[in-house]
Amino acid sequence: MADKIGVYFDESTLSGALEIQKLCEGVQKKWSDLCPVVKVHPRLASAEGRAMIQADIDAGTINAVCICGSSPRVDWDFYQFGKDVLVDRVNLREFCVLSYKDPGGQPMVSGQTPELLHKMANDYVNMGVIKLQKANLPDGGAIDVVKRVLVIGGGWAGLSAALDVASVGYDVTLVEKKDVLGGAAAGMYKTIPFKYPYDAAHATGVEKKIAEVQSCEKIEVLLGSEVASIAGAPGNYEVAIKTGGEEKVLGIGSVILATGWLPQDTSFLKPLGYGKLKNVITSREFEEMAKAGAIVRKSDGTKPAKVMFLLGYGSKMDQFEVKEQQARAAALAAAEEKKETDDTPKTNFIKQDTYKHLAYSSELTSLTALKQANYVREFVPGGVAMVVYEHMMVPGLNELYYKAAQNDASVMMTKGVIEEVRDGGDGDIVVVLRDTLLGSKVEIEVNMLVLPTGMVPTTAIDPILKLKYRQGPAMPDLELFSGYADSNYICFPYETRRTGIYAAGTVRQPMTLAAAEVDAAGAALKAIQCLESANRGMAVHPRSGDLSFPKFNLVRCTQCKRCTEECPFGALDEDEKGNPMPNTSRCRRCGTCMGACPERVISFDNYNVDQIGSMIKAVEVPDDMAVGGPRMLILACENDAYPALDMAALRGKKWSPYVRIVPVRCLGSVNTIWIADAMSKGTDGCLLLGCKYGEDYQCHFVKGSELCNRRMANVGETLGKLGIETERVRQLQVAIDEYDKVPQMIDEFVEEIIKLGPNPFKGY
Ligand code: SF4
Ligand code: SF4
Repeated sequence: MADKIGVYFDESTLSGALEIQKLCEGVQKKWSDLCPVVKVHPRLASAEGRAMIQADIDAGTINAVCICGSSPRVDWDFYQFGKDVLVDRVNLREFCVLSYKDPGGQPMVSGQTPELLHKMANDYVNMGVIKLQKANLPDGGAIDVVKRVLVIGGGWAGLSAALDVASVGYDVTLVEKKDVLGGAAAGMYKTIPFKYPYDAAHATGVEKKIAEVQSCEKIEVLLGSEVASIAGAPGNYEVAIKTGGEEKVLGIGSVILATGWLPQDTSFLKPLGYGKLKNVITSREFEEMAKAGAIVRKSDGTKPAKVMFLLGYGSKMDQFEVKEQQARAAALAAAEEKKETDDTPKTNFIKQDTYKHLAYSSELTSLTALKQANYVREFVPGGVAMVVYEHMMVPGLNELYYKAAQNDASVMMTKGVIEEVRDGGDGDIVVVLRDTLLGSKVEIEVNMLVLPTGMVPTTAIDPILKLKYRQGPAMPDLELFSGYADSNYICFPYETRRTGIYAAGTVRQPMTLAAAEVDAAGAALKAIQCLESANRGMAVHPRSGDLSFPKFNLVRCTQCKRCTEECPFGALDEDEKGNPMPNTSRCRRCGTCMGACPERVISFDNYNVDQIGSMIKAVEVPDDMAVGGPRMLILACENDAYPALDMAALRGKKWSPYVRIVPVRCLGSVNTIWIADAMSKGTDGCLLLGCKYGEDYQCHFVKGSELCNRRMANVGETLGKLGIETERVRQLQVAIDEYDKVPQMIDEFVEEIIKLGPNPFKGY
């Protein structure tokens, strides 16, 4: 616990707006025992400023540092003084100086600090001091780490990831289910171009990658092998591998999942003649033919002179969609009845012939059609390829490939929606299109029709990882029918909801070989970062470098299981009595468990219920709203809302001086006692600002803001019992780039609270 706090004011960010001397006197008066040093420096973020603080630490005068100046998001590294010194930053620049908005009669003029502004700054300084007083140095919980990465899947992404990890000196075990390496890439005739001049398909080069892997001393390849189970936690997994009838257990530090995709069940293509007309095939079957060296019709073995490639399924599929929706509703109802969790593999549903296509496939579908259209000319002299698209998607450098196809006289491209596919006799097919570039409805007779291949991530069929986790053997996936590993796709694309396990390639989303190679490099870096962080007791991300982790005072635990159920990352197992068993290195330090615990027995050394509660209590609430104005609390998520507020202030946006902002790790960590305490001490309103939740969520901890929203029902109940209007507490969603909106959101809330009048508890 910090008991000798040095408080330092940075004149360069505050002077002219705040009366720094008056703030110093406030600290000396209120915290004389706790704060032996209170100093002002003309430019704290300088070598001299830092040296001044370091001298106080070295002299033993202080053991914690409170910096009053700019946001903690600025110069974070600069203000670190080693692992034995706690540091907190009081954001007076962004939250007071830059954002102060005169509510009337208290303008900010040079050399004079309005009373409201001074009170606000004073509250923030007091909150900073008490935050440090209630903090302990986090002790990390470093573990001995096995510096070996397991790569599951020996296809393009898996081979690339294994080579990337090995290239920086780490050991790799590569497990491949089949008896050969190469995966889907080995079955490709050519790839969409990924090298200059990007205008022609070329060989994949997978044989070279396989040879590199096989000759690399750092990589152990296990063919014909599968993962039987994964127990433990990042840094120290125990992975059972089954090869033939034998099982062996390996020590593994982190895991890269690169098991790729499988073709979707084709029964949904029936309305397009697939299965009935012999020369209607999928793009995968077409690729297999090219790889085997001949493109011929299944019906008679002749070369097709006219081949059509479809990119969309058109109105033919409408009837199918109705069926799909009905099946989806039935599947959801069945899942609900069985109480399946997010983590249950959706095998049963995926195997049904009931869904049209999977997310993200359009880019790959477009590029594959362009590539295969080129095969026609190569394999069928004088042959013509027709590409019919509703949406042609060729982002980035692929535009060059598209242009090359446009300039190829043997490739015809047209926009069109498929209306009908029928037998044209002699193995030919008649395709009816509408809304083409040529006009209304057209009928085209072709010798072969190629339909896109639906891609299903292997994880949708099989849990693959077979985790021995309380929350189930698989990774939670995106939505019922998708099967792609759930994560925060905006900020952490390789991360899954199982810490230490990183997804790469088409098991994560459909992508080209070029994209899968980049993906593999990203996952490899994360897998290595995981080892090196677990080794030091640190979180990998999003709180990279965080040494704190939840501690459980189990004496008071009632085994209610809320923490083990609500942890988004499967970090908590249970003992036989139902007590939570933390896995430090699986934990992302989000605090969701702390927010969930009704007994308040979960805490972090430097983030806990008492600490935030004390900060809230440190805010001075005027007894008379008409004289001192109302007081509102904002609990702001550190990932999106807090940076949005910082950016708003830096862009000259202003908001009401009646609010006090308290950063929280995630809204999921908000314990409702904070709100109840704030309201019962007369705070007029409380705003919770956090990430977007729901299907399109942006919460860095996946479910935190959603869980907070659910808990708001309990808050409403508590407020009702206290006789306080429920409108006084509100949760709003804000994205990091909504800095232009957030000041208005605050001001509108303040206006509403002013209209409601003072909290009835004021003055008690
Ligand atoms: S809820 Fe968050 S802080 Fe708690 S155990 Fe899970 S990951 Fe760790
Ligand atoms: S939420 Fe709290 S009381 Fe419930 S099981 Fe977890 S630690 Fe125990």
